[in-house]
Formats: sequence, structure tokens, C-alpha cells
Amino acid sequence: MKTIIAGGTVVTVRNDQPVVLENQTIVIQDGVIHSVGPTESGSEPQGAAGFRPRGRSEEGRDLNPDQDAPSPCHDAEIIDARNHLIVPGLINTHHHLYQSLTRGLIEVQNAELFDWLTVLYQKWRHLDRQAVKTAAMVSMGELLLSGCTTTNDHLYIFPQGSDARFESVLEAAETIGMRIHACRGSMSVGASGGGLPPDDCTQTEDEILTDCARVIEAYHNPDPYAMVRIDLAPCSPFSISPELLRDTQALAREKEVLLHTHAAETLDEEEYCLEKFGKRPIPLLHEYQWLGRDVYLAHCVHLDDADIDLLAETGTSVAHCPCSNMRLGSGIAPIARMLAKGVTVGIGVDGSSSNDGGNVLAEARQALLLQRVQSGATALSTAQAFRLATVGGADVFSRTKLGRIEPSMAADLTMFRMDDLAFAGAVAQDPLAALMLGHAPRADRVLVNGKTVVQDGRLVTVDEHQLARELNTIVRERFR
Ligand SMILES: [Zn+2]
Repeated sequence: MKTIIAGGTVVTVRNDQPVVLENQTIVIQDGVIHSVGPTESGSEPQGAAGFRPRGRSEEGRDLNPDQDAPSPCHDAEIIDARNHLIVPGLINTHHHLYQSLTRGLIEVQNAELFDWLTVLYQKWRHLDRQAVKTAAMVSMGELLLSGCTTTNDHLYIFPQGSDARFESVLEAAETIGMRIHACRGSMSVGASGGGLPPDDCTQTEDEILTDCARVIEAYHNPDPYAMVRIDLAPCSPFSISPELLRDTQALAREKEVLLHTHAAETLDEEEYCLEKFGKRPIPLLHEYQWLGRDVYLAHCVHLDDADIDLLAETGTSVAHCPCSNMRLGSGIAPIARMLAKGVTVGIGVDGSSSNDGGNVLAEARQALLLQRVQSGATALSTAQAFRLATVGGADVFSRTKLGRIEPSMAADLTMFRMDDLAFAGAVAQDPLAALMLGHAPRADRVLVNGKTVVQDGRLVTVDEHQLARELNTIVRERFR
């Protein structure tokens, strides 16, 4: 299956810097970008026959249009992109997709993390398979419409007696057509053991580790273009034991999957760790071999210089969630300092109960603004914010084929209309600024793995209004 996207303005990262390339043609073959290059003058996007894009081959050499251009493309789908900005499919490195069930919940609109969690656990005890799947579809639908094509999901709550299953999220991702890093999360220390969650929202450590091994075996795909990867993700220091930390990392390393958890999100967490384990969160994780190139940590708000050095030295990545940190009053993560030290950072929207929306470009914009609140107008540039949402996220996930528009990359692409009012003026000045400083509109078209999943600003795989009504019904009946 071949697709040709013709005449668009591409914004992507090349040689570590964002570039804006006008009048580009992208050729996609079987879900992979085959070539990217200037549209040949005189070619008309609507004239499929004889349409010959120039560019680079997968090996990086220039394509000679007379010899190497794709053959006349009678069999190709042609997408006219002369009115579009095209960016790499955006990457979301931290989410709890089920939490659209409890967004906007009145009791916790003004709560900090521990109080927020304590109330929400009582709601999440009612999770079941249908609720998790419907909520996941809603959260992923929102992400796709914002131009995000790959998401994390951190599902860590499996209430006792519930039919909620890890598979609910995978089914949702397949139905809606999104690439996913699905974390098998866990909680093992309930209130009776000094933890935060109610006991009936936890599982035994044997149950957890057995199921972690099962889902890796059943669903993890190590292929560079995989649509599904499984990561292992104990929830947080206040809901698991050190033994589960130790055993989970051993299992992940045996199976060669990534590790993920929340870390250094609030000062309450820091106090809890000091009191219970005698160490702050990052040194605690270090003690349990939880730092490394195969680890990504959500939040990392309360870090000192030694913590940042440790993340940089070990290659540990960070999922930065500025809206959630602002919503819960958790603090400002020192992202500019982390980047200056060489820490890998991606963007996370976090769960829909602490954001309360899923828009990766908006989140990257918020990252830029929040760093500037803390450190002045030069703290984070549009180029850095764009990197966070694209190659930063790909690096967090150790995905070499995501986050860029160039030959051999996965065909995950987001197209925004340049004549949208939200871009007017800015797009004529600087398309990168239009994307990162303004409020980007809904994506007009989104491709994941070469397949169109958003067209004309609408999800093509599901009826989004029907989906919203289904979630509202579930929420009214059981989650408010
Ligand atoms: Zn989270």
C-alpha cells in the first residue's frame, strides 16, 4: 500500500534541530516513510500518474528522479497537503487512560495529590472491563485529535473482584488505531500495610509478577515498528514494597522491556520516602537498580542537583507533565536544568483526572510557559518544546523509528490546516512558533502506521459523539 502526501510544509527535527521545509512530498510504503523531499516543480498533487517526488532513499542518498523515483503511482493514494503543516506524530509518555471516568470530579477539584488519590481510589474501586475500555477509547480519541500517535498508558489499579483487565486498553488501542506503550502497573501495599490505596485495590506480589510475565509473553512486540509494547510500572513508592520494585526490575530486564513509575512528584512523597525508607525518591530508586536507559520516570518535580546528575549519568528518562503538576499544585519540574545536563525528557499529559484533557502540543506549550515562569523568557525555546513532544518522547520510549519525518521512520504523521484561524498570522511568520506558542487547532488528518485515523478533523475509526455519550452514561451511573 503506497500513499503520497504532496506539497506540504514539513516541520521535523534534523540534526537535533527543528527545521521547516516547504513544498515537500512524503512517500509512504507499507506503513513506513520511503522518501521525503521537495515536490518536483510542475507536478500537481491531484495528478497521480507521473507524480515524481524527489528526496532521499532509506540509505540517505539523493534519489535521482529519473532512476529511483517511485514508479508511476496509479495504485497510490494521493493526499494533497499544499495547505497543511505536517509534523511527526506526537508522543505522549505518561497517561492513565481510564481516568477520563473521573475528570472534573467535584470533590477533588482543589485537592493535592494524596487527598486527590484517597478520594479517587474510592471511585476507582468500581472499575470494570467496559468502563476501562470506554474511558481508554475517549482518552486515546482526544490524543489522536491533538495529533498524538503514540501513547503510554499506566494502568495500575485492578480492584479485587472486578473484571477489569489489562486487555481492555489493548482492545481500545487496536480499535481506535493508536500505537501504545501499555504499562502493566501494580499496587501491593494497601492501607493496612501503611500504603495509600485501600487494600481491595491492591494485588499480591505473586499475582502481579505472574501477570506481568503473562502480558509480556502475550503482547510485547520488540519490532522497531511495533504497535504494542509492554512496559512494567509499579505505581509509586507509597503503594508498593521495595521487594516488588526489586523483583519487577529483575523481570523487566530478563524480558528486555522498559520500566516506568511515578517519582518525586510531591513533597508529601518525599516525606513518605524519608520516613519509611530513609531516602528521598531518586536515591531510593537508585538503591533498587531503578535508574538506567530502560527506565522512564513520570514527574521528577522535586529533584536536587545530585538527583539530576544521577538521571543524566544513568541515562534515565523523564516524562514531564506540567498541567498535572500545576493542577495538583505539585510544583515545577526543573526541565531546563535537566535538558542542560543531558537528561532525556518527553511530554506526558498524565491521567485525565489531573489534567483534565489530553493534548500533547498544548502540554508542550505549557512546559515552555512554566519553565519561563520559573526561570525567565529564555528558559525553554520553541525548538526545545517541539523536541519534547517528538524526538524527546521517542527517546524516552527507546523508539528509533518514531518522532521524525525521514526515510525509514514509521509513517506516523499529523497534518494541521494552515488556514485555521488559530494559526493565522503566526504561520506566515514562523510555522514552529504557530505550533508551539499558539493554541494548535484539531489535527485535520492523522496517520498511524500509514493508516488514516483522523480525517477532516474527525476520528475515522469510531463515532466520537457516540463514544462521548457512552462515557457520560457510565460516569453518571457509577463514577460521580
Ligand atoms: Zn500519573
